[in-house]
Amino acid sequence: MICFVPVCTGVHNDGEDMREENYVVVIDPGHGGENLGAEYETFVEKEMTLKLARAMYERLSGFDGIEVYMTRTEDQDLTLKERVEIAEELDADFFFCLHFNMSVNHDLYGAETWISSKPELYAKGYDFSHIIMESLTDLGLFDRGIKTKLKKNEKDDYYGIIREATAVNIPSVIIEHCHLDHHNDYPYYHDNTDQWLKQYGELDALAVAKYFGLSNPTTGEDFSQYQVEHIEIPESQVKPDKTDPETSILALQQVNQEEGYAEFLLEGKDQQCPLLYYAYSTDLGETVSERFPWDKETNQVSFRVPLVEGKEQQISGVVYNLYDRFTVSNEVTIPALSVQQVLSDEVVGDLNASDHQMLTEENGDTSDTFTQTYQEIAIPNEAKSGTGNDWFLFILLALCVLVLLIVATFTGIYVTKNKKRRKRK
Ligand SMILES: [Zn+2]
Repeated sequence: MICFVPVCTGVHNDGEDMREENYVVVIDPGHGGENLGAEYETFVEKEMTLKLARAMYERLSGFDGIEVYMTRTEDQDLTLKERVEIAEELDADFFFCLHFNMSVNHDLYGAETWISSKPELYAKGYDFSHIIMESLTDLGLFDRGIKTKLKKNEKDDYYGIIREATAVNIPSVIIEHCHLDHHNDYPYYHDNTDQWLKQYGELDALAVAKYFGLSNPTTGEDFSQYQVEHIEIPESQVKPDKTDPETSILALQQVNQEEGYAEFLLEGKDQQCPLLYYAYSTDLGETVSERFPWDKETNQVSFRVPLVEGKEQQISGVVYNLYDRFTVSNEVTIPALSVQQVLSDEVVGDLNASDHQMLTEENGDTSDTFTQTYQEIAIPNEAKSGTGNDWFLFILLALCVLVLLIVATFTGIYVTKNKKRRKRK
């Protein structure tokens, strides 16, 4: 039978609750058949989830005390209900749905999980999610959190697979491993994709093994002492935050004409949930920069916007919460870059270095791709062209002029001599 008492999961430290029956888990590779899931470049989600699921199955099956099943082992159509029915027939202890993500505006990145909003299933979903999210963020993926989502009736879970599993009281989780359509997540799947899928399979399997406190006699891995961090079972259904962040205040810190930037402090707050990202607009919200990680520790971030020659800019900040709800800040006008101010190579070097440092402080761990892209946005075009190549061209040009001058001088001497000779003749 499926057990709902928390003692069933994660109490392995005292050894007295070791269960005699095997745990039964079902792995559900998202999509399949006609349902391709996310498609990006040559990547098709249904193919990726199947490879990932096979890797997870292989790895997890090596552990004692667990029976592992898959809803599909090939490319086939399955309704959400059919998938959950498989788990129901097996009397599964947990249902793991494997997915990859994409966003409508291609502006989101990172990993996240979706779980049931019903108190007991929420607690189990959360406890497991905590383990897998730790593994995924340890890889370097951005933490988009552990969340619930409800249908418009504000009662039923939004995601069909969660709704079906919840209806038959099976704990379930949708693991969205990363976003296929954002460059920040490219390093986590784009090259050596099969290796990455294997890696995700490994992490998912180990998270399950930790959650149930399993051991693997072949590899010697022993998670029987692993401490699952249990959250308290919520008193009522856990609803997502439906309001925008309350605070989004932008303050100008300094304008540095010499180095060509304005520095801002953006303060943001949401009473109900953490903030995830921030962005800024330089054109009254018509376009918005890419999203940068929010500094969860301090409720504020600082960032720089390059000054533009001959043009004032109106800057506003945007803060986004866990549920991607956002609030736009007040506007602050910054002056144009003064015309006399030409950025030298040296200054560009400094700007690069300071941006990088700022980002590292904010982010803790900075991936190369992120830094590179941030710099692309943060460095004005004028500055970008001032590279070492320009100096090389300048020296080359100067040499050419010098050679021309020498040739001209010698030609002049030659012509004068000839004239003299002709005169003599
Ligand atoms: Zn999917």
